[in-house]
Amino acid sequence: MQIKYPVDKYSDHSGAIHRLQELNRQFAIEHGHPRKAYVQTFGCQMSEEEGEKILGVLLDSSMVEVNTQDEADVIIYNTCCVRENAEQKVYGHVGVLKGLKKRKPHLIIGIMGCMTQQPTVVEELKRSYRHVDIIAGTGNINNLPDMVCQVIEKGRRVADLSGTERIAEGTPKESHGNIKAWVTIMYGCNNFCSYCIVPYVRGRERSRSVEDIMAEVTSLAKAGVQEITLLGQNVNSYGSERGLPGGQAFAELLHTVCQVEGIKRVRFMTSHPKDLSDEIIEAVATEPKMCKQIHLPLQSGCTETLRQMNRKYTADQYRALLAKIRDRIPGVTVSTDLITGFPGETDEQHKESMAFIEECAFDMAYIFIYSRRTGTPAAKREDQIPEDVVHARFEEMQKIITDSSYKSSKAQEGTVLTVMHEGPSQSNPSMMTGRTEGNKIVLYSHQDCKPGDILKVRIDTAKTWYLEGTVITED
Ligand code: SF4
Repeated sequence: MQIKYPVDKYSDHSGAIHRLQELNRQFAIEHGHPRKAYVQTFGCQMSEEEGEKILGVLLDSSMVEVNTQDEADVIIYNTCCVRENAEQKVYGHVGVLKGLKKRKPHLIIGIMGCMTQQPTVVEELKRSYRHVDIIAGTGNINNLPDMVCQVIEKGRRVADLSGTERIAEGTPKESHGNIKAWVTIMYGCNNFCSYCIVPYVRGRERSRSVEDIMAEVTSLAKAGVQEITLLGQNVNSYGSERGLPGGQAFAELLHTVCQVEGIKRVRFMTSHPKDLSDEIIEAVATEPKMCKQIHLPLQSGCTETLRQMNRKYTADQYRALLAKIRDRIPGVTVSTDLITGFPGETDEQHKESMAFIEECAFDMAYIFIYSRRTGTPAAKREDQIPEDVVHARFEEMQKIITDSSYKSSKAQEGTVLTVMHEGPSQSNPSMMTGRTEGNKIVLYSHQDCKPGDILKVRIDTAKTWYLEGTVITED
């Protein structure tokens, strides 16, 4: 599904877009088929959303999408550098492309995204991966037509990392979802958690204007999208760099997005506990379209570890915030992110953290093994935790989360939940699937509905990560 926005900012690049369209027309005549594009994204939802824009730009320049890199004439890897193994995976994939380029010399290969915001990575790609034609950062998607033209017309390798602090507006987007879409509302982060590389590679916080966000949401709604997830590294501080009180500006944005006709559900991620204001909680509690779900990364349940992580809240403050959320939004689903193996974490601190995580009774959690990222304060520490200890702690944490997630699912048995229908289940195509407001997957046999329908489903059986139920009514 191609989404174009009624904002004129992408047309600043119209010269390059027209040049590339013309080059692609010539290519189609010479090769008997249009130039084929393949985009692969490694990383979080924000990276996925940027991947949709990269593909949107290429298709807008008269290319067609293909599903495998072997068929492609242009391959772009949209990368992530938050964890070391994601980076290693990309290097492995890029290495494999060398053979493909030998067999198909006209193949254009680009590496974009967070990873290429690191000078050491750029040097490595330039030096050791000479088959890569384009190296560009996260702010350069709108420049992609120009970079592809330079490679085709001049046969030159292009590296453009100039746009880190830029907000590219109006970029066309090719979305593979039919009823759900992500909308990035801000870029960058000011928080400098001691383990995290994001502020170094994505720069300081920059918020999009309400007008640009609304233009995008309205276009998505017109294209049939019914559920929007607003994205940012810390959406709670939306607008704060412009002097707007962060929590208030974001709460107002939530109310505004909820007014868009055709949009049935609104979610957001990620929140920083220190910035989740009463206004935001109130917006989630009172707006009927707001899903009663909050993702609230805890990272550690030990106050001393939180201090060393530079998270700027204590376990007690998190506990109080959680109680406030659960009190004001009955039935709310709370999920979290957790890190295991942070440098210097003692056995006692780990135990303290486990006890707190258990007490929080999260509905869902993503557990990450600490990844040492060069350039961050935590990476310089000498008291890194041995791998076997990290893995043992990971298992313990996983058990707590599996138990609490199952308890949360079990509590739904016999209740009737509102579910947005998505379509046949990928793992069991004889069943249909949809999601609750809390983002839990529900399976049911009811066939007679279309994506986006809101169903009332009685929950019959709880599994740890999904629910099974019976459709009792349609809205
Ligand atoms: S809030 Fe912390 S963990 Fe999240 S992106 Fe910013 S620095 Fe990284």
